[in-house]
Amino acid sequence: MSNSSISVTPTKTSRLGQVRWDQLGFGRIFSDHMLVADFRQGAWQPPAIVPYGPIAFTPSMSSLHYGQSIFEGMKSTREHSSGAPLLFRPRDNWQRMNCSARRLCMPELPEAIFLDGLRALVRVDRDWLPPNVTGSLYIRPVLFATDEFVGVRPSDSYKFVIFTSPVGAYYSEPVALCVLRNFARACEGGTGSTKMAGNYAGCLLGTREAQKKGYKDVMWLDAKDHRAIEECGTMNIFFVIGGEVITPPASGTILAGVTRESVITLLRDAGRKVSERRIEIEEVVAAHAAGRLEECFGTGTAATVSHVSRIGVDGVDLQLPPIAERRVAQQALDELTAIRTGRANDRYGWIDRP
Ligand SMILES: *Cc1c(COP(=O)(O)O)cnc(C)c1O
Repeated sequence: MSNSSISVTPTKTSRLGQVRWDQLGFGRIFSDHMLVADFRQGAWQPPAIVPYGPIAFTPSMSSLHYGQSIFEGMKSTREHSSGAPLLFRPRDNWQRMNCSARRLCMPELPEAIFLDGLRALVRVDRDWLPPNVTGSLYIRPVLFATDEFVGVRPSDSYKFVIFTSPVGAYYSEPVALCVLRNFARACEGGTGSTKMAGNYAGCLLGTREAQKKGYKDVMWLDAKDHRAIEECGTMNIFFVIGGEVITPPASGTILAGVTRESVITLLRDAGRKVSERRIEIEEVVAAHAAGRLEECFGTGTAATVSHVSRIGVDGVDLQLPPIAERRVAQQALDELTAIRTGRANDRYGWIDRP
């Protein structure tokens, strides 16, 4: 827990005074400091906390060309009673980043850099946590290849950076999703279960197509026969059909979200039947026709729990029941929020105090 090994060079000119707390939005404002650690000659060099700012590189930097770049996303929230910053399951993000690193032939991050570095950074920039309990500090760790070399092979050198961004109350309006039969996000044996930069670039064109048709995002189907539902590209997906809560299994083609796993745990402990199983879009269409499609929602760090308003399938919209009737999603959101803000007892040991 100590940050004694991490050097801190404080900024001379804090930008904190310029922040308009009522107009944060998402991902546009960055806190005063960042944590930086380099990997070279087979070893991690000591991390340092320095003022947030540009990093120099040359055009031959390999991650730009061959995509060896992975990231994580998590949030710190204020404790309801004390206002102290809390982290939610940061160890899971650390482990997931190392899964991504192994898949991309990148070096794993030691706990002393990822977790101790993260805690030290949040302590240094704790005043960047929005003053109101509805806001939070979004945390973005990123690891990328830095060899100056043109040629396809794993890089020898890497840079790890963590920076943070104060974000406002994420008012998640219900989202309209659309399935596409002519695009896929991930395939078996591929990189869909990692937070690899290129996964998101590959989704942009399909997402743009969905947005042109009036949807917010894509509900991705499997790459093989375009039937099995996978996820939304930044959110995992849940359905409630006839009382059963269903979410696709965390196989190799979906990103196993920390929010997903937390929601499954909370709902199961509340006595609900939660199935991690294959679900085809045809099953959802049939359930909707039979009046048994009760809810659909996405889960992810940014929005926590997002209701789905309608699902476009082959030119037809499946309209979902009114939000006021979405008892499962609401229960998941309420319980998660209570734990993350310290209102509810941390009965799973999910809270980490930086
Ligand atoms: C990050 C991410 C999620 C959500 O994961 P959380 O850990 O819950 O934030 C879902 N799908 C994809 C593709 C993601 O990158």
